Amino acid sequence: VEKEMIKDGDVDEAFDAKRAAGLVGELRRSFDSGTTRSYEWRIAQIKQIAKMMEEKESEIFEALRADLSKPKFEAYVSEISLTIASCKHAVKELRKWMAPEKVKTSLTTYPSSAEIVSEPLGVVLVISAWNYPFLLSLEPVIGAIAAGNAVVLKPSEIAPAASSLLAKLADLYLDKSAVRVVEGEVPETSALLEQKWDKILYTGNGRVGRIVMAAAAKHLTPVVLELGGKCPAFVDSNVNLQVAARRIIAGKWGCNNGQTCVSIDYIVTTKEFAPELIGGLKRGLAELFGENAMDSKDISRIVSSRHFLRLAKLLDEVSDKVVLGGESDQTQLKIAPTILLDVPQDAQIMQEEIFGPLLPIITVGKIEDGFDLIKSKPKPLAAYLFTESHQLKKDFVRDISSGGMLINDSVLHLTVPGLPFGGVGESGMGAYHGKFSFDAFSHKKAVLYRSFGGDSDVRYPPYTPKKLGVM
Ligand code: NAD
Repeated sequence: VEKEMIKDGDVDEAFDAKRAAGLVGELRRSFDSGTTRSYEWRIAQIKQIAKMMEEKESEIFEALRADLSKPKFEAYVSEISLTIASCKHAVKELRKWMAPEKVKTSLTTYPSSAEIVSEPLGVVLVISAWNYPFLLSLEPVIGAIAAGNAVVLKPSEIAPAASSLLAKLADLYLDKSAVRVVEGEVPETSALLEQKWDKILYTGNGRVGRIVMAAAAKHLTPVVLELGGKCPAFVDSNVNLQVAARRIIAGKWGCNNGQTCVSIDYIVTTKEFAPELIGGLKRGLAELFGENAMDSKDISRIVSSRHFLRLAKLLDEVSDKVVLGGESDQTQLKIAPTILLDVPQDAQIMQEEIFGPLLPIITVGKIEDGFDLIKSKPKPLAAYLFTESHQLKKDFVRDISSGGMLINDSVLHLTVPGLPFGGVGESGMGAYHGKFSFDAFSHKKAVLYRSFGGDSDVRYPPYTPKKLGVM
């Protein structure tokens, strides 16, 4: 990589391991000075993030347009307003989160009191992905700051306009001595990963997740891995089809055109209901994006040629299964919302996360027959069910393992700050959002307080048979 990637300090040489070590050393000195621990510093920084999102709204829209053609409304809802909501939530709750939590003690320690004290971990690293470049960068940073850490953010180079804007704005709005943005590709990220961090939160694919975890293991650094997977949606015939179809469409094509970690990857429905469902989706798509979705301004484009070609290849293998859409335009990196019916399970489209506007529908005899299909695949980040049946809801929640779950809608569970957001198995480990972010970046220190009173002989030698009797 010839071009200058780091924006902290406007220095021209490459960001290598030596410079990464220097940066970590600088932030560690700040952390050790105690600055980041104070409640006031944490609140001030989080408020600055909210202010930055409010004041720089138009620059943020412009970056998201340049990187993804993200429609303004979508950009506002999924990046700006969610980030501001996280800031507000943290500001409101931080005192409570920071307060030591009293716990009961046991007879063995009587008399005593005990509490769990949340302490910052130190200097942490956040590596984020390109699809929601502001939200996925700032949401973990809010957690890291709320917990009192110094933090380095490495945004994704695949969304270069957002990455450089984040670097510029962090410089302007945040305390440089403890919050930094390092831009870069693989060499810069590798240089960062060589360093000793107190925690790493990585968002992206599982292949790189393994690289991050291996690098962290060298220093015994704990990790949160926010990965992806194939998120299924089960659609029962017992639904309000019009509402279900709109919610499926909103969660698939209305969320970055399917380039979302929790967007619906494939649908499972019954053979009988499939034609009705496809009809409902067709009508809904025409209503929301017009008769020709390729011309719609309300849909994002594919992020890069590499991803466009990857999706085109997935589609090509099963092009005879297309029941809607299938059009694409490489010059504009656009692929139409595309529905495919009963693609074979061994086709590549059913083997890897699609992460784009292609939506296979798999049909089964009864909805429950599809449970085995999910269980035969790695555990997804999210699983969805559309039904009015209470029994089916209960069975689904009990039998299907996934990072999160949402009944009768898609994607929206991640907007509830009281719910942990994270994967299980191959969709990741650890969780964040709301207090879970604070916890992810805190050490829960166990503290027991005793006084000098009430000292009993029982625990001390000599260990006489009589003492054993007391125990
Ligand atoms: P990406 O290409 O932006 O990569 C993510 C980060 O990894 C970037 O910052 C990148 O610089 C870094 N990276 C890439 N190669 C690296 C290497 N060899 N060594 C070190 N770092 C490296 O994003 P992506 O992986 O294409 O993102 C899509 C994937 O992320 C999908 O699987 C999606 O489901 C998942 N995702 C998960 C979440 C979540 O919250 N769980 C959110 C968004 C995306």
